[in-house]
Amino acid sequence: MEEKKLRAIVTGGSRGIGKAILIELAKRNCSSVMFSDVIVEGDDFDAHAKKIEEEIGNGTKVYGFKADASNFADAEATIEAAIEKMGGVDILINNAGITRDNLLMRMSEADFDLVININLKSVFNYTKAAIKPMMKQRFGKIVNIASVVGLIGNAGQANYSASKAGVIGFTKTMARELSSRNINVNAIAPGFIETNMTAKLNENQKEALLTNVPLKRMGQPEDIARVVAFLCSSDADYMTGQVLAVDGGMVM
Ligand code: NAD
Repeated sequence: MEEKKLRAIVTGGSRGIGKAILIELAKRNCSSVMFSDVIVEGDDFDAHAKKIEEEIGNGTKVYGFKADASNFADAEATIEAAIEKMGGVDILINNAGITRDNLLMRMSEADFDLVININLKSVFNYTKAAIKPMMKQRFGKIVNIASVVGLIGNAGQANYSASKAGVIGFTKTMARELSSRNINVNAIAPGFIETNMTAKLNENQKEALLTNVPLKRMGQPEDIARVVAFLCSSDADYMTGQVLAVDGGMVM
């Protein structure tokens, strides 16, 4: 079936999993895409967007917007900019996230709050801002990037796992609240993916983590992006409130 061309926003989409999602959506479902982020190379958002646009190379427009996902006013400003530049918003990917790992004994209150604000409150901020136009047009696809540690926990990640478990609860509630307006809300729980976030792990740590991964390799950002694109396609129209683990079999 010929897909309707859509317009997407990806938070934290300048690199890593977010950028891979932006590119995959541009290749498959979208006529224009926008990333929001706090920082890009040289702080030049237009130049960074142009670079990704050239990388995609199929005429899909790419826009960049400087916004802190943990700030509600910034989220509203992103949606306004998206409506102005792309004419609307059909897809929202809540991807922005950070880690500040430590055992609880050593975890500061500031690091707990920071991770909750960037990983969880951001999802509230962007969803609340984006559903206004989506409800009006009676169409929307929202995909939240959670984590397997939001399902099973992980020593040293009390802040991060709580934020991701929060994202999963939020996803299910939004699926129930927004279903009557034809807005699908799902989450993905990535396993162990090769990005800046996991680059700080040394070879021994990686090897130890891989013993719990039946497919015996780290995932690539594209492994996540392809599943996101599926959830944003009409093939997944009858799916909402789901959490898909994309983790090489780590959690089953
Ligand atoms: P990454 O560090 O490469 O990307 C994170 C992006 O979020 C960056 O572009 C960063 O600038 C942006 N960001 C950080 N704070 C922000 C803020 N306040 N406002 C807006 N943007 C902000 O890491 P990644 O691995 O690509 O992570 C993407 C998502 O995937 C995160 O939500 C992460 O928790 C999740 N995830 C990653 C893994 C993994 O193994 N890499 C596993 C599970 C889940």
